[in-house]
Amino acid sequence: MNIKRTLLEEFPPAPIDPNEIICVKCIGDVVLKRLMNGRSKEICSVCGSGENFCVDAYFLAKISQDVIRKNFKICTKVPSENNFHLREIVSKVIQIKDERFSQIVASYLETSEGNSKGDQFFCKSYSYSALTLPFKSKRKEQDYLQEQWDAIALSLTHRQRYFNDEAARYFELLFDEAVKTEHKGLFKVALATVTILKAGFIFYRARKVENQADKGEMQKFPDRALGAPPKERAAHNRMNSSGVPLFYAASDRNTSIAEVRPSIGDEVAICQFQSERALKFFDFCGLNMHRSHPLLSYFIDDYAERKDRRNFLAYLHETIAHPVTSEPSRYIVTQAMAEYLRYKHKENFDGIIFKSVQHSGGINYVIFDESRSHKDVTKLNWQPSFAVKAKGKTEIVTISKIQYSGNWI
Ligand SMILES: [Zn+2]
Repeated sequence: MNIKRTLLEEFPPAPIDPNEIICVKCIGDVVLKRLMNGRSKEICSVCGSGENFCVDAYFLAKISQDVIRKNFKICTKVPSENNFHLREIVSKVIQIKDERFSQIVASYLETSEGNSKGDQFFCKSYSYSALTLPFKSKRKEQDYLQEQWDAIALSLTHRQRYFNDEAARYFELLFDEAVKTEHKGLFKVALATVTILKAGFIFYRARKVENQADKGEMQKFPDRALGAPPKERAAHNRMNSSGVPLFYAASDRNTSIAEVRPSIGDEVAICQFQSERALKFFDFCGLNMHRSHPLLSYFIDDYAERKDRRNFLAYLHETIAHPVTSEPSRYIVTQAMAEYLRYKHKENFDGIIFKSVQHSGGINYVIFDESRSHKDVTKLNWQPSFAVKAKGKTEIVTISKIQYSGNWI
């Protein structure tokens, strides 16, 4: 909250003055703005305009008190980074920049007339802090925010995999927040998680060489031998279940090698692939940038849930990219998520971008196949096609060294 902190003494209790009113232009909250439509047009005490619908401080005190009770708690400490004067809470909830008017509303709340519950919640000597934050550690915050994701993962894995409405609804709400995330660049604001790569973008794809015949194929026919596997041979992976081929690629040579997890002495074939058209990705890396969201109104019913979902986005990339070793079922939730982004999300994504856990700093790309209808798969000898084409020659490298590091447990 960026509010200039001033001493409480500078704001003596405001007199209860029925002439103190504020107009729709001087209030930021969009839900309150809607409630103000059709009210009388008077002279706003803040901006002096007589052109806009107005409400008085009494109205604002009445309407905001339950919202404040629901989202903040009394804190006996002196105001600090996380504890605020009631005036500051009012300013945050209603989104008023004018400190004097915020103090008038706060003063109303402190009177028996303004506080309709008649409890001791509003008092001049209290400060207030948000109900859930701060957590004692980042780990504790992540555990709390990830609870719902984990519940969906368990439900998909052990209960209802194919017609799970709860999971579909969860992904819808989560990715609705995620795609609206913005990133403020130097010159413009852009969507943080929607990345469009132009035609001609270069990806790297690698495969371990299993035998000499394979090697010859990969060198002669990289499109076929190094591209996505045919549907019969598509093994389950982070973003696809077996039988559903996707094109996995990496941002650079070393990442593509690391992703096939070779042993020392293995030969690995690598080829560049070029996109044949512009491709739209859901980009998890965008969640790690400095993000911003459209302001959320405290007056919506699901404010707390939406706030938690937004906060979870900070951990979502880590959650989906987490290394999974021996338990294939751990991928079920990311497979369902990829299917949601491919078939259900209105952005019509062509793929997903996420970080490589095998090679620090590397990026993974998953590209969806080009079929547009379920009827496509019924065609004779149908195989999925992808909007990428091999470019240049296949390189063969022999792995001579692998580096490991770890943490003692
Ligand atoms: Zn005004």
